[in-house]
Amino acid sequence: MTTKEIPYKIYLEENEMPKAWYNLRADMINKPAPLIHPGTHQPMTLEDLSPVFCEELCKQELNNTDPFIEIPQEIRDFYKMYRPSPLVRAYCLEEKLGTPAKIYYKFEGNNTSGSHKLNSAIAQAYYAKQQGLKGVTTETGAGQWGTALSMACSYFDLDCKVFMVKVSYEQKPFRREVMRTYGASVTPSPSETTQIGKKILEEHPGTTGSLGCAISEAVEVATSTPGYRYVLGSVLNQVLLHQSIIGLETKAALDKYGIVPDMVIGCAGGGSNLGGLIAPFMGEKIKGNADYRIVAVEPASCPSFTRGKYAYDFADTGQVCPLAKMYTLGSGFIPAPNHAGGLRYHGMSPVLSQLYDDGLMEAIAVPQTEVFAAAEEFARVEGILPAPESSHAIKVALDEAKKCIETGEEKTIVFGLTGTGYFDMVAYEKYHDGIMDDYVPTDEELEKYFETLPPIA
Ligand SMILES: *Cc1c(COP(=O)(O)O)cnc(C)c1O
Repeated sequence: MTTKEIPYKIYLEENEMPKAWYNLRADMINKPAPLIHPGTHQPMTLEDLSPVFCEELCKQELNNTDPFIEIPQEIRDFYKMYRPSPLVRAYCLEEKLGTPAKIYYKFEGNNTSGSHKLNSAIAQAYYAKQQGLKGVTTETGAGQWGTALSMACSYFDLDCKVFMVKVSYEQKPFRREVMRTYGASVTPSPSETTQIGKKILEEHPGTTGSLGCAISEAVEVATSTPGYRYVLGSVLNQVLLHQSIIGLETKAALDKYGIVPDMVIGCAGGGSNLGGLIAPFMGEKIKGNADYRIVAVEPASCPSFTRGKYAYDFADTGQVCPLAKMYTLGSGFIPAPNHAGGLRYHGMSPVLSQLYDDGLMEAIAVPQTEVFAAAEEFARVEGILPAPESSHAIKVALDEAKKCIETGEEKTIVFGLTGTGYFDMVAYEKYHDGIMDDYVPTDEELEKYFETLPPIA
């Protein structure tokens, strides 16, 4: 097939959409390490998890055996409102670069939440509703997850309590208003409404909060309010499972035109979009049926994969959550103000951590100003204003496509464009005004946080 026969946008038909999520864990030879109980250090059981999370989601969290889990019809119906998402051939970008590389991106920004997070939010809200719960609690940093969850909760008529990191609450009033439009209550964290919030405020008066701190507050409210559970937008196995819809659609669209990628690239915060995008490709790679270069891109200011330790660590500042074995910078790590808010988590998905440790994927850390330069280069020809998080993947895709100019290789590059950046214009403004910095933590700083890792073998 000649290039010209491949459309700009490869859409799947509605009936070609996946009917089941793909659970990569079932095909992993080395399974991700289990979550362990913060008190007993034993693997978390269904009984341990169910006071915190919805029952069905606990089962998904622990399921390392079923390769496919059916997507309930109600969720598929919701997906149809904004899926299948397009796989776009970046013809204009290729032409501008003058590269022989073929670049494709899977665009997840075509919904009001502006990111892929809705794929898991709707699933989690559905299972909460099924269980007869009144509502859910969560945290949000940059605001994308809170927005997605409030949309999902309003669809299923569930109450949604969001703890929003205080600095974002103040700096991103419009994100907050989107959440309130969908009926969520939004509390700046740390707050006086929880025990842990009060404690943190006493110890650190004037703190502008962190994701770890907001998680502790949300978990406290969920476990102390009858009819509520806590939901999380990344890192967990269940979230990667739901996000596999991204990879399944991508693979189906590529297969339709007989396209085989050489590289699959995605940005990595907690690892959910990347885990979802790469799932079917990684599955084939593990089984020896195909070989792909799979690359995670993270900010140099929060380098969990490239400079972190693979160890059990706390998921939250209050240390109330289960411990996860992951590439981590230590739960006390507070990243320097970095505009890619959604990539600022100290840890990484246990699934991706295991795959990375097994050498099945690579990771690259990139400095912030180069990410924004790439974002702008992309926006000017492809017509989409990308989220700063997504632009980490753009940066590496551009670098690879530019290498192909020298080598003449016609590499096929696929990357995940996770969302749009309309709520990130303050960051773009800093970039344009030349006042964005590229702070990278020193080894000494990282050492300090590694000392806070719990001593678990
Ligand atoms: C949250 C977010 C990310 C990072 O989260 P992952 O769990 O690593 O996928 C990336 N891009 C956008 C647009 C986001 O909102």
